[in-house]
Amino acid sequence: MGNNPIRILILGGTGDARSLAEHINCDARYDPITSLAGTTRTPGAIAGTVRIGGFGGADGLADFIRNENITLMVDATHPFAAQISSNAVQAGSLTGVPCLRLERPPWTPLHGDNWIHAGDINEAVHAIPANACVFLTIGRKEAAKFFVRGDIRMVARMIEAPDRPVPDHVDLLLARPPFAFVAEKVLMEDRRITILVAKNSGGAETYGKIEAARALGLPVIMIARPQKPALATASNVDDMRALIARSLA
Ligand code: NAP
Repeated sequence: MGNNPIRILILGGTGDARSLAEHINCDARYDPITSLAGTTRTPGAIAGTVRIGGFGGADGLADFIRNENITLMVDATHPFAAQISSNAVQAGSLTGVPCLRLERPPWTPLHGDNWIHAGDINEAVHAIPANACVFLTIGRKEAAKFFVRGDIRMVARMIEAPDRPVPDHVDLLLARPPFAFVAEKVLMEDRRITILVAKNSGGAETYGKIEAARALGLPVIMIARPQKPALATASNVDDMRALIARSLA
């Protein structure tokens, strides 16, 4: 190792990415730079350097890695962000810079859970029964795919409002995680929710809604994660710090 701190590119957009940046920014060996897609207009504070916006595909990401003297890349994007993860693997091949993945394990159903498994968003749209009152918790980007279901009512929660107006049968709820069990249960009771639609994001920050659905005996349409290319993976920040140290040894 030379005297200059090692530049680590963190592909972010998750709480785990933010936490990783905070930890490695305190370590004098490392100089983290977190990349955000720019989809959230007001992202929370992140330790270390932050850059915002797409790279222009795998080639653009490879150029960035070369220009910024990146030594290691950590894909800490959301489990459902498939394109950037594919680009990261390609850019790693193009540059010879190793790429690691930080990814929480998916949730698995427990006793009392009533999950309806959906392979993707479109399957989930069609799995909702007529006249349901849905709690939609899949984020802003793909929420509109559910708005075509005029035969249901919906509370759609996301961090920021969509660019276009939402139809009358959709109530927007703007909020940022974490979301705790008790508040989720109260919300679902108050809004007379009959079914929850969730991505299998994993982790504790948004698990409260799954616990609330279990407590209320409500079904959950659980959308499976997309496939991502295989990579050396850690499931939490501490394990990722150890994996980074091993990869750089
Ligand atoms: P995506 O479909 O995998 O990526 C679409 C494009 O957005 C990528 O090709 C890339 O553009 C750009 N991009 C994505 N993540 C980036 C990053 N961290 N830094 C720079 N550019 C990035 O991603 P997505 O599903 O739209 O998600 C966008 C971001 O939101 C991700 O960073 C993800 O971690 C976060 N997020 C996603 C979800 C979800 O459910 N999908 C949930 C929570 C948070 P270029 O090809 O131009 O480089």
